[in-house]
Amino acid sequence: MVKLGPVFSVRHLLVLSLAINVSLMLTVIRERVKVEEILNMFSTKLQLATVSPSTGDGETTDNGEAIINLDHGDPTMYEKYWQRMGDKTTVVISGWQFTSYFSDPKNLCWFLEPELAEEVVRLHRVVGNAITKDYHIVVGTGSSQLFQAALYALSSDASEPMSVVSAAPYYSSYPVITDCLKSGLYKWEGDAQAFDKSGPYIELVTSPNNPDGFVRQSVVNRSGGILVHDLAYYWPQYTPITTPADHDLMLFTVSKTTGHAGMRIGWALVKDEIIARKIVKYIELSTIGVSKDSQLRAAKVLRAVSDSCGVAHPFKEETFFGFSHHSMESRWMLLREAVNRSGIFSLPEFTPGFCNFWNRVFEPLPAFAWLKCGDGIEDCESFLRGHKIWTRSGRYFGVSPSYVRISMLDRDRTFNLFVKRLSRIRSQRRMRLEHVD
Ligand code: PMP
Repeated sequence: MVKLGPVFSVRHLLVLSLAINVSLMLTVIRERVKVEEILNMFSTKLQLATVSPSTGDGETTDNGEAIINLDHGDPTMYEKYWQRMGDKTTVVISGWQFTSYFSDPKNLCWFLEPELAEEVVRLHRVVGNAITKDYHIVVGTGSSQLFQAALYALSSDASEPMSVVSAAPYYSSYPVITDCLKSGLYKWEGDAQAFDKSGPYIELVTSPNNPDGFVRQSVVNRSGGILVHDLAYYWPQYTPITTPADHDLMLFTVSKTTGHAGMRIGWALVKDEIIARKIVKYIELSTIGVSKDSQLRAAKVLRAVSDSCGVAHPFKEETFFGFSHHSMESRWMLLREAVNRSGIFSLPEFTPGFCNFWNRVFEPLPAFAWLKCGDGIEDCESFLRGHKIWTRSGRYFGVSPSYVRISMLDRDRTFNLFVKRLSRIRSQRRMRLEHVD
C-alpha cells in the first residue's frame, strides 16, 4: 500500500485538490466552448442553407426571412424525376469490384469504362446533339477537369503563354480556373470581343452560353486560334437541338445533362488523336484516372435517359427530357410573369428555333436567368441581397453589375419562393401607378 504520510502534507493535498478542480472546470469550459462552436457552425450553416425548411414541396409561404440562394447552378431540380424512377438507376458495387486503376488498357483513354463510352455514344445518337463517329471520348472528373486538361493539351507546345479568351458575359469559372496555378503555358486574357493581341490563342465558346443562354459561335476571327466548345447546356430541355455538333473539341457534363453534379463526371469528344492523348496525360498526372464507381453510375443514368426516350412519346413527363423540358417551360413562364409585374427587372428575349429532337419550334429555356436591374439600380446583386435573394453579379462574368445570374435549376420549393418574392418587388413608378389605380 502507498504511504502518503511523509510525502503529502495537508497543504499538498489541498493544492492537489485545487489543481484537480481547476482542471475539471477548464474541461467543462472547453467542452462548452466546443458545443457553442458547433452550435454557431450549425446556425451559420442554417443561414447558408438554400431556404429555411418549408412545409412541403411546392408550398411557398414566405415571410421574407428565408435566404434564397440561387448563386450556384446546383441542378437539384432533377432530384424529383430520379426519385420517381425509384431503383431504376440504383448501382450496387461490392468491395472487391473495380479496385484496379485500369478500365480499358487498350483504349487511348485507358481509364474510361467501356459501359460509359457506350452510353455516351448512344445518348448523343438518340438526342442528335453531337457526332461521335471518329471522335475520341475522354472521361474527366466533371467537365471542369476536362477544361483544365484541354488548356494543357492545347498549349503544352507553345513557346510563350497562350492567351485564353471568351466573349463576355463568359462563364465566371473560366478566368479563375485558367489563372489559379499561374501557369506558364496559358493566361486568361478576358473578353474575346476586345482581344487584339497577336499570337496563338484559345477561344472558349459556350453554347448555349452560361450565363445568358444565347447560342454562340466564335468571335475572334483570325488564324492561330484554337476553339474549345463547352456544350454543357446543348440538351433539349434547354435549347432547340438544331444540328449535331461536330467541333474539334467539345465538352459535356452529366451535371447539366441529368442533374448528377455530385457524380463529377464529364466527357470530351476530341477529333485529333494527339490532343486527345495529351488530355488523357493531364488526367493521368492530376488524378490517375477518374472514379470507376462514378462512371458506372453515370452509365446507368445515361442508359435510363436513353431508354426513357424509347419507351414513351418523348414529350411525356415520364421521359427524362419530357420532364425536364416541361419543368423549364413552366419555370420560365412564371419567372417572366414575375419580372413583368415588377417593372424593375428585364430578361433576355430569345428567338424560337426548330428542334430536331422535339420536332417542334420552341424558345430557349436556359439553365440560368440573366436578369438586369433597371430603375437606376447599379448593383443588382446587392439590391437582391437586400431581399435575401442571393445571385451572382455580372462583374464575375466580365460585364456590368447591373446584371445578375440566377440559377433556374433549384428545387421547386426554392424556385417558387423566389418567383413569389421577386414579384413583390415593385419599381417606384409601378407602385405610384398602382396607388393611383
Ligand atoms: N461548363 C459550364 C458552361 C458550366 O456551366 C459548368 C457548370 N456550372 C461546367 C462547365 C462545369 O461542369 P462540371 O460540374 O462537370 O465540372
